[in-house]
Amino acid sequence: MRILIVEDEPKTGKYLQKGLSEAGYVVDWVEDGVTGLHQASTEHYDLIVLDVMLPGRDGWSVIEALRRERATPVLFLTARDDVGDRVKGLELGADDYMAKPFDFVELLARVRSILRRGQPREATTLSVADLHLDLTRRKATRQGKTILLTSKEFSLLWLLMRRSGEILPRATIASQVWDMNFSSDTNVVDAAIRRLRVKIDDPYETRLIHTVRGMGYVLEERDAIDS
Ligand code: CA
Repeated sequence: MRILIVEDEPKTGKYLQKGLSEAGYVVDWVEDGVTGLHQASTEHYDLIVLDVMLPGRDGWSVIEALRRERATPVLFLTARDDVGDRVKGLELGADDYMAKPFDFVELLARVRSILRRGQPREATTLSVADLHLDLTRRKATRQGKTILLTSKEFSLLWLLMRRSGEILPRATIASQVWDMNFSSDTNVVDAAIRRLRVKIDDPYETRLIHTVRGMGYVLEERDAIDS
């Protein structure tokens, strides 16, 4: 699940990014409305946490423009608990509203509730061959056996499975799962793939994660002979 935070206060932005990442989400944080709208309309996000008072263009204008093309759920953040603001936000198509200062636990509960609402029922399980990933219960099974995953392993497997058959460069994996940029050391990706293989491939006859030399990794069902 990917969340975009549009928040110009560094302290709040950092706090939200850290908290939501720890809760298992992949989080991007931008600090002005123009960049926020650009990110929100060019990338895929499951939820946007949008501050109202922003440099560039304010939260109202961001959601107004965004709603012309996308239905991405939006949780508004505002400094004032003003009924007028709340009504305006909801009229413009926000899904929920929180006044600052907010309690992180409450924000997280609302984020989860919005994401549950927005998640189509049929998309809660991904399957490739005999490997299944239950997104709601955050659980993987292969041949009916439960595989315990850390939250990063879950995010990694989820990425590989939802883009099954597609060769994913290390840099793409690094940015999607760890939120690291392209210049970062991608050894962390190789190490995580190794750990994931121990869990989902090693005990089984058919391998699903394949290394594509010089390019990256792909998860797909192949003939046993070349796996
Ligand atoms: Ca602000």
